[in-house]
Amino acid sequence: PEPVISARDVRVWYGTTRGAIQAVDGVSFEIAPGETLGLVGESGCGKSTLGRGLMGLLPAGAKRDGEVIFKGRDILSMRRKDAYELRGHDLGMIFQEPLTRLNPLMRISQHFEETIRQHEPDLSKDEVRDMALEAMRLMGIPPTRYKSYPHEFSGGMRQRLMIALALVLRPAFVVADEPTTALDVLVEAQIVQILNDLRRNFRASLLLITHNVGIVAEACDRVAVMYAGRIVEQGRVADVFRNPQHPYTRELLRSTISLSTTGLNFIPGAPPDLVDPPDACRFHPRCPQAMEVCASRNPVDIERPGGGRVECWLVGPKDQIPAGGEQPLK
Ligand code: ATP
Ligand code: SF4
Ligand code: MG
Repeated sequence: PEPVISARDVRVWYGTTRGAIQAVDGVSFEIAPGETLGLVGESGCGKSTLGRGLMGLLPAGAKRDGEVIFKGRDILSMRRKDAYELRGHDLGMIFQEPLTRLNPLMRISQHFEETIRQHEPDLSKDEVRDMALEAMRLMGIPPTRYKSYPHEFSGGMRQRLMIALALVLRPAFVVADEPTTALDVLVEAQIVQILNDLRRNFRASLLLITHNVGIVAEACDRVAVMYAGRIVEQGRVADVFRNPQHPYTRELLRSTISLSTTGLNFIPGAPPDLVDPPDACRFHPRCPQAMEVCASRNPVDIERPGGGRVECWLVGPKDQIPAGGEQPLK
């Protein structure tokens, strides 16, 4: 089937006093109807920037290049007003902090009325109510809570409400940016339950941005691993997690596993400064398997064994490595 959304060679820069930050640097992927793609990577690697780019929500000063095709149109180059019209109706965004996005002085019913009327001004109050109650039902919120205020809900219920609000107009594509970090009160199992309810009941395609590899394992079909503005490996979750090809994916999985068993164990070294990132493979200063070629030539993006894509000289075409390039990097 046709992908719902396809990103082609997307780049985003932010101008700062220190120079341009290359937050997203040549990213391509597609999401099929009904599919959930997990986007993982360390803090600052560009996940939210990419997510906002897909929603036409980049700050006005951010420079961009490439394409994000949704229903035959390029969201990345769209005027802000046109992107605004798509959002809510065709595109949905679920944000990090449910409390800050809900107005404490407005009843849940008013939140739904406002959201729906922005896009469907002609609906009657009863029609709005029916749509809202159906979205609430799908997210497991009892209809008796329609007139409640946000503070009357638990953290998990508020997150469900945010999702019901974002999805009430049935967008075909949704970005959920760290929908879980604000919810320390929720255990992982509950979060996975919420996400799986979302998938099952709304059938939207979803980009799920998260630090939590465990959630990706349980709630996503495919995964994209991002490092310093690039997607270094992507493929089906089972393939990538059982048989990671990129050293960064392996380190990410290792650090996650040890987090739950032997305490904190982060990937050694720090993510690079995106104003002046390392040449060639951006992971080379931290990579346990770095070779000479990794510091001088960009790794070739190739199909993974098992499907998906990866860019790393360890799996890339050996005949393109110059003589001596396979020496360990000093
Ligand atoms: P986190 O996991 O912490 O949410 P992230 O992967 O979402 O991180 P981004 O928020 O996309 O990362 O940021 C990528 C880079 O762009 C970072 O270096 C960040 O400081 C920078 N950045 C993000 N937003 C802006 C902005 N509006 N202006 C300037 N720089 C920005
Ligand atoms: Fe490591 Fe080289 Fe692969 Fe980069 S290209 S991840 S430095 S082995
Ligand atoms: Mg972010």
